[in-house]
Order: sequence, then C-alpha cells, then structure tokens
Amino acid sequence: MTECRTIAVANQKGGVAKTTTVASLGAALAEMGRRVLVVDLDPQACLTFSLGLDPETVEISIHDVMLGRVSAGMAVHPSADGPDVLPATIELAGCEAALLMKTGREYVLRAALDEVRTSYDVILLDCAPSLGVLTLNALTAADDVLVPLQCESLSHRGVGQLLDTVHEVQRLTNRDLRVLGVLPTLFDGRTNHARQVLADISGRYGLSVIEPPIAKSVRFAEAPAAGKSIMRTAGRSPGAEAYRTLARRLVGIEEPQATVEVEVEQLIDLTSEAVPS
Ligand code: ADP
Ligand code: MG
Repeated sequence: MTECRTIAVANQKGGVAKTTTVASLGAALAEMGRRVLVVDLDPQACLTFSLGLDPETVEISIHDVMLGRVSAGMAVHPSADGPDVLPATIELAGCEAALLMKTGREYVLRAALDEVRTSYDVILLDCAPSLGVLTLNALTAADDVLVPLQCESLSHRGVGQLLDTVHEVQRLTNRDLRVLGVLPTLFDGRTNHARQVLADISGRYGLSVIEPPIAKSVRFAEAPAAGKSIMRTAGRSPGAEAYRTLARRLVGIEEPQATVEVEVEQLIDLTSEAVPS
C-alpha cells in the first residue's frame, strides 16, 4: 500500500457497532502489517477506553488537535492492539460549539491529519452518533465512508438523512468522498428478517452491502472491558475472523463482494421513510 486511505465509520444511530468496527478492523489491519491510526471522534470516548486508555487521564486528545493547540502527531498514543490511537476525552463535547465560530470548520480534521498521513497506511475515524460538525469533519477528511447497520426493522430510519449529509459533503467540502456501503452488524443469520431488511435498505438507497455480515456474539461485549479488541480477547472467534475478512477485502487482498440474495419481489415494505430525492 502506498497511499494512506482514510475511512470514516459513520451512522448517527448509536449502538450499531461503529466503535467495535473501528477497534476490530483496526486491529485486524495491524495484524496484517498495515500501519493503522484510529481516531476517536466521540466525546463518550468509548474507542479510547476500549483500546486500553483511560479518557480521564489522557492529557492530550483529539480535542486539543481540533482546537489547533497541538499537532495530531503530538496527541497519538500507541495501543497494545497494534493501531495508534488519537484519543478523545469528555472535553470533546465542547468542541462542536468552539468549532462553530471558526472559518473552515469542516476542514480542521483533514488539515490536522495531513500532517500524519505519511506515517500510516489506513486511518479509521470513529464518529459520534450525530451528524454534527465533528462528523462533517470526519466525512470531509475521509476517502471513504462505511456505514455499520444493525439489520432490524426500522434500522433504515436515518439512513436517508445520513446519505443527504454525505451528498452535501460531496458537493461542498469533499467531492471525492466514496460510500463503501453498509456493513451489516449485530447480524442474526438465523432468520430471513435480517437479510430482508438489508435488501430493502440496499435497494431503497442504492447502497452496496459489504460482506461478510458481522454476526451477533457475546465475545464483542467482553472485549472493551479488557481494554483490547476482539482480536486479542477472542482472536479465533467467528467475529474476529469476520473482521479479518473485511480487512483483507478493504485493502484489496480479496475482491469486495456486494451481494444481496433476496429477490426484489420478496421484499417486505418496512417503512414509510421516503427515498431521498
Ligand atoms: P456504536 O459505536 O455504533 O455506538 P458500539 O460499537 O459501541 O456501537 O457497540 C454497541 C454495543 O454493541 C457495545 O456494547 C458492543 O460491545 C456491542 N456489539 C458490537 N458489535 C457486536 C456484535 N457483533 N455482537 C454483539 N455485540 C456487539
Ligand atoms: Mg461509538
């Protein structure tokens, strides 16, 4: 890999495995020898915590970077899992308001990361569950956006709004931003329901579905408390293997698949949300 690739993991819905995806995918890519930086853009600092850093004692964080107090390189910490981490603290909650007063506020992260891009093959951005200024910064700084999605009824709600935001970013601040597609998470393969939800969303919004789906597993709930990703706590589990496969596909070692196996006629109408125009 020659050029650094920056991937924003975004969905304004909470609990869809954005943070888990950044931690697990980051560790899987590091395992493959890639130089990885993960960036915590959520004031709740779950990524920071789940990679073994204590947000309470972190002294220099993404907040300082966003306010221009330090360079990104000065805020980077190593992690036991492999990737470097640009941590968040609760201070980041005040960042949105501070950025609103700034010129070029959507470009702050992009400019900060430009300084460290040559040190990494992949940068993963863990977005907060909102479409605020921090998420706009992530989408502006990214080459690609990946949308984790829990496949249950009504999980499509908000996808239209997210895509509207992506289109605005493409129009105004980052015309090269690509949508990788939706990553099915917390997937329950025992029922057809999850596949139908996926097919519905993919058809409705013209989105690719990234395979493999990440199955629901208690192993994922155990990892953050240990301050490590699933690659370390249950490295042979199906969940860890699924993220390894995803990592290989993302860096082009295997061709990406985008398949949904449900016929269009079979789709159930799950909603009332209109397709964005
Ligand atoms: P988000 O960042 O989108 O809010 P998280 O990654 O924090 O979501 O995940 C929400 C919760 O779901 C966490 O408790 C996490 O451990 C759990 N989780 C994530 N992925 C899975 C999975 N595949 N199976 C079971 N639990 C999961
Ligand atoms: Mg999160």
